Amino acid sequence: MLKRAFVVLCLLSGFAAAQTTAIHCGTLLDVKSGQLQHNVYLIVEGEKISAIPAAVPGTVPLIDLPNETCLPGLIDTHTHVLLQGDITAEGYDVQLLKWSLPYRTILGTRSAHRALEYGFTTIRDLETEGAMYADTDIKKAINEGVIPGPRMQVATRALDVTGAYPLQGYAPEVPVPHGTQTVDGPDEARKAVREQISHGADWIKVYSDRSYFVRPDGVLDDIPTFTLDELRAIVDEAHREHHKVASHAAALNGVHNSVEAGVDSIEHGMYIAPEDLKTMAARGIYYVPTLYVGEYVAEGRAKAGAKVWVDMINIHADTFRRAQAAGVKIAFGTDAGGFDWKIDPAMEFPLMVKYGMKPIDAIRAATVNAADLLGWSDRVGSIEAGKYADVVAVPGDPLNDISVLEKVNFVMKGGQVYKRP
Ligand SMILES: [Zn+2]
Repeated sequence: MLKRAFVVLCLLSGFAAAQTTAIHCGTLLDVKSGQLQHNVYLIVEGEKISAIPAAVPGTVPLIDLPNETCLPGLIDTHTHVLLQGDITAEGYDVQLLKWSLPYRTILGTRSAHRALEYGFTTIRDLETEGAMYADTDIKKAINEGVIPGPRMQVATRALDVTGAYPLQGYAPEVPVPHGTQTVDGPDEARKAVREQISHGADWIKVYSDRSYFVRPDGVLDDIPTFTLDELRAIVDEAHREHHKVASHAAALNGVHNSVEAGVDSIEHGMYIAPEDLKTMAARGIYYVPTLYVGEYVAEGRAKAGAKVWVDMINIHADTFRRAQAAGVKIAFGTDAGGFDWKIDPAMEFPLMVKYGMKPIDAIRAATVNAADLLGWSDRVGSIEAGKYADVVAVPGDPLNDISVLEKVNFVMKGGQVYKRP
């Protein structure tokens, strides 16, 4: 009896807390149809959109955005909230060697807050770069309302093999931390997948290649990290536990092995062979191109002696064009954290358009497609009754000028307003 009374009370207080508000969008971009609609009203009840009526009663509190274009909260499917930019190896090493995990987590909460203010109401955070499971804590603090931030799916520690991932180059007798969990052999890999999932990983992230070089025929070659057996064990174990695998694969062999092993997304993909693009399209493997970060780090890395990063810009743009032509599914991702969080990750949009994508498709990559990659099509990625009230607005028409997405001036996540004009 007591139990039942408690349940009833909770339900009642739940209803009491579910406030109703309305948003008036001067313009609304329906990302599914690609159409701009004018003077649209959204009814927000609690954390969801409950209706999109022709008009609203005057008694409902109204958020009036007459000059704005509303669109669904943006989704960045490749971030690192626990990384604060790493143009050079030194910049990366300092974060792992000199910053404590608590300090990195404090900075991570700031990154998450910034992501939300830029209009990214959902992110897939693809590994902590040595900060262990701190991403699961940031996610928890956001979900419990302790700190502001986007909805998160997290990958925790990521996997790589011995000798492949920074920190490298220290004296053998000096133990140093690494940005990933090191595994060798299918059994160790399988165990690490189990461990990461048990500690809260939504995704398993693998680093499938390293050491890039441009061949005389223009193909970006690499050293694959895992053997195919190791990669297959990781994918099999993750899928067996109903989790997906994201593969950092920038070049020829890394991408090929990842596709063969059956990963769910190819991250970066600066070079992808035509045959692998075909397989990706046929199997529905997502491509998350992260164009902006390559251009951002290129100059600094070239100055440090790695000119290949400059050559990779054109190779990457060409791959992005070929992927579109091949009908590969593309999701928006930026590698934010790989560049400074003071920079709006929406800088990615103009590059996608520059390299041949229609503005509406770039926006779809960051909304409906990204939601599909995350398995969250039922809750985010479009403005529809029944979905979370994750709504952003920009002062202009993003179909006409995509860079207006760098000027998000209204952010609502789960019915709560975090920014308004
Ligand atoms: Zn990354």
